[in-house]
Amino acid sequence: MEENSVGKVETKNLHFDEDIELESGKQFGPIDVAYETYGELNKDKSNAVLICHALTGDAHAAGWHEDDEKPGWWDNAIGPGKAFDTEKYFVISSNVLGGCQGTTGPSSINPQTGEPYGLDFPVITVKDMITVQRKLLNYLGINQLFAVVGGSLGGMQALQWAVSWPEKVKFVIPIATTAQSTPQQIALDEVRRRAVMSDPKWNEGNYYDGRPPEDGLRLARMIGHITYLSDTSMKEKFGRKLQSGEKFNFDFEVDFEVENYLHYKGGSFVDRFDANSYLYLTKAVDYFDLTNGGNRSLTEAFSNVESKFLVISITSDWLYPPYQSKEIVKALESNEVNVTYSEITSTYGHDAFFLEPGQLQHMVANFLSQVLVKDVMQNDVPVIHKETSIKEASKSIIDSDFTHIPVVENGNRLAGILTAWDVANAVANDFNSLTPIMTTDVITASPEDPVKKITNKITQYNISALPVVDENDKVLGLITSDSITQLVQGQQPIPGTDKG
Ligand code: SAM
Repeated sequence: MEENSVGKVETKNLHFDEDIELESGKQFGPIDVAYETYGELNKDKSNAVLICHALTGDAHAAGWHEDDEKPGWWDNAIGPGKAFDTEKYFVISSNVLGGCQGTTGPSSINPQTGEPYGLDFPVITVKDMITVQRKLLNYLGINQLFAVVGGSLGGMQALQWAVSWPEKVKFVIPIATTAQSTPQQIALDEVRRRAVMSDPKWNEGNYYDGRPPEDGLRLARMIGHITYLSDTSMKEKFGRKLQSGEKFNFDFEVDFEVENYLHYKGGSFVDRFDANSYLYLTKAVDYFDLTNGGNRSLTEAFSNVESKFLVISITSDWLYPPYQSKEIVKALESNEVNVTYSEITSTYGHDAFFLEPGQLQHMVANFLSQVLVKDVMQNDVPVIHKETSIKEASKSIIDSDFTHIPVVENGNRLAGILTAWDVANAVANDFNSLTPIMTTDVITASPEDPVKKITNKITQYNISALPVVDENDKVLGLITSDSITQLVQGQQPIPGTDKG
């Protein structure tokens, strides 16, 4: 196991009984969700990064299972010091609704029949996938994501998060994806679905008591795999090399190495993936369209977005070509959203987001290091009015989760700050009002300050929480060392959050 690995991990399972309302209007439940987490959730729960997988991925994104021969599918991007640095972030990865690796999908048992759902499973969408992810986050006690990230279908989920729940995510990183599946993408998906469905063993989706439609699924995967590579990468990898010797076989057996490779890829896939899931997930991809069938422009679709974006495409990706990412960027810019666009320069094609960890790390680390106070501050913080009695003020400190409480006067303007230490001081000295005990010379932060600047202040003054104020000294929230400690790893140490 490499040194910078998250190490041994296990897939966990969350079950919820209540139905969710699907985009189709149907109610659906119960639902199981397979998920993994890496790194530590900070006290403020402000460092959660949700990783969304592509079409055939799963919850096992990083680290090693007991019996693994290779690590999770994005192990080169998730771990200590990697693009999604588990020393800083609490990384969550779950299998999508409709999948077949632990989250409820067509191969799961329908509790009403005791049989696998098969085609009784409802048609689901990207929105439905993120509804299930939100349930998981609620269960984990996470109200807001620091970032949501994904490539391909994962990128669609990331975009949908930003559009559906703008206030729930600070940073969005869609990679090699689109805001609207194109006719070419839909056409390719339909050919793949037909490959599955034309296998007699598919049997209208009822194959769970016998052999699955292996031939059809293998063919579908072979087609899919071609779209994940590029002309150049195939030339580089295979050329026109023959499987055996230098002569053609002059028959219809496998001649070329590239044919052999595709057969190998298709064959290994049928052992791990459910054919019906393949149908449902490709359908969700096809339905994905942030313009809602042209009822609104992409600019309108992004009009409520509050997150910052890093949109990444791959130079040689012909499945989700860079122009589709640039359309996303343009629509975001029209809304004056803070967006950075980066291209991974690679000949690997669509799959480059798994295969170019160096470039990805550089782009992601740069982007996420631009964290501002407003990205991680706590907005809903208690305040105490200056005229409050010592007794009431002590009650507020005890009842809240906060060690530092801003004291305000008229119009929520900052008048001072109070800690339990100050209240103890009042008791010891028999003071009755806040005025003699609160600190009026308050060290504050502005929402636009980079967190690095705040780290320095926190270290310099040995204080673990600063009120965040606007230009008129109105209290907007609080920034604590807890919420930024992990995000600025490698900086000066930050004092503890001991009640003081
Ligand atoms: N342990 C504390 C901490 O982690 O913030 C610092 C220790 S000191 C004994 C506590 C004093 O610092 C209290 O009188 C409190 O009012 C003051 N204080 C807390 N936050 C402050 C801030 N942001 N600006 C100025 N003074 C502050």
